[in-house]
Amino acid sequence: MSVQHDPVQRADFDQYLVPNYSPAAFIPVRGQGSRVWDQSGRELIDFAGGIAVNSLGHCHPALVKALTEQANTLWHVSNVFTNEPTLRLAHKLVNATFAERVFFCNSGAEANEAAFKLARRVAHDRFGPEKCEIIAALNSFHGRTLFTVSVGGQPKYSDGFGPKIQGITHIPYNDLDALKAAISDKTCAVVLEPIQGEGGVLPADKAYLEGARKLCDEHNALLVFDEVQSGMGRTGELFAYMNYGVTPDILSSAKSLGGGFPIGAMLTTTELAKHLAVGTHGTTYGGNPLACAVAEAVLDVVNTPEVLSGVKAKHAQFKQRLQAIGEQYGVFSEVRGLGLLLGCALSDAWKGKAKVVLDAAAAEGVMVLQAGPDTVRFAPSLVVEDADIREGLDRFERAVAKVVQG
Ligand SMILES: *Cc1c(COP(=O)(O)O)cnc(C)c1O
Repeated sequence: MSVQHDPVQRADFDQYLVPNYSPAAFIPVRGQGSRVWDQSGRELIDFAGGIAVNSLGHCHPALVKALTEQANTLWHVSNVFTNEPTLRLAHKLVNATFAERVFFCNSGAEANEAAFKLARRVAHDRFGPEKCEIIAALNSFHGRTLFTVSVGGQPKYSDGFGPKIQGITHIPYNDLDALKAAISDKTCAVVLEPIQGEGGVLPADKAYLEGARKLCDEHNALLVFDEVQSGMGRTGELFAYMNYGVTPDILSSAKSLGGGFPIGAMLTTTELAKHLAVGTHGTTYGGNPLACAVAEAVLDVVNTPEVLSGVKAKHAQFKQRLQAIGEQYGVFSEVRGLGLLLGCALSDAWKGKAKVVLDAAAAEGVMVLQAGPDTVRFAPSLVVEDADIREGLDRFERAVAKVVQG
């Protein structure tokens, strides 16, 4: 038996929702694997992946099973009590990473909020209130709370909301000399995305992250990696830091961690974690059994040699074909990224037109993303089928051809 709903349409968005988004003209109603269907029954191939969230596509059987089993067992108890899915997921994350302690929350912004508060707290406890400065990168993105937009290096997200959080310096990304010049004994943390996602899918240089690690150690500052977008198998390693061999002190995760169910996590060491003593931080839904049960299933599937090496193989398929499309139509100056986070930088003639390409792609039946106005971004399921990659890129090529023809 299915519940009868009143019919809804895209125009209802403009009538009833706060206008902070501008969603596409069609409404997806169902998904399976890397395919999505809209209200009219039109089928699309999904290379957007819910912005690097649907790490196992839509309705993956392991996730449906974990969610429905947990839905029939226990939904929520609050952090006045703990619960089994939380404990299992934390243990697995600790086994799989540098971390020894985990804090659960509900989003990337919250994971970063916890990371930044922890970094400040540690410095406060160890060195006093003067050591509170945070260094972050221009063009970085860390979420939409006031602290995270203040740390993020994009004034369009942080301006116009009154006084920002103080003590934050922004430096050019991948510029070690700039970091060297900015860091001091007042620095409590250096915050970096190992691959700038929203900023245009820009991977860090290995020497940059190695240099940042060294400078942090010299100045008793913590190195924080925001892996909300780059983590959970996206790059072909469980976390992007593993590609670089540079270990952070604090790492934030979200997006792919829940595969579509909201969850965030902050990972750190025992020594640092002890600065968040009872009562110093928290969130009602953090460690929610439904979220943790799904994330545990995601981790079980993703953190396997087959899936992780599959991501690297699929990267090669995407890259080769996107480079060929770029050359044939003269639209891309570069195809970059790691694993299944790819960015196609638009050539000079097409700069600023990422949204045009994205809309043309949707019209041809393939969902892609932009990362700023100059980059077309792909963040598909980590287990996207090879046949879907071929068919989706055929559709994408038709879209590019139409854009170029005008
Ligand atoms: C998406 C993103 C965030 C914010 O995550 P939310 O779940 O939207 O709060 C933070 N950092 C990075 C690198 C992201 O890509």
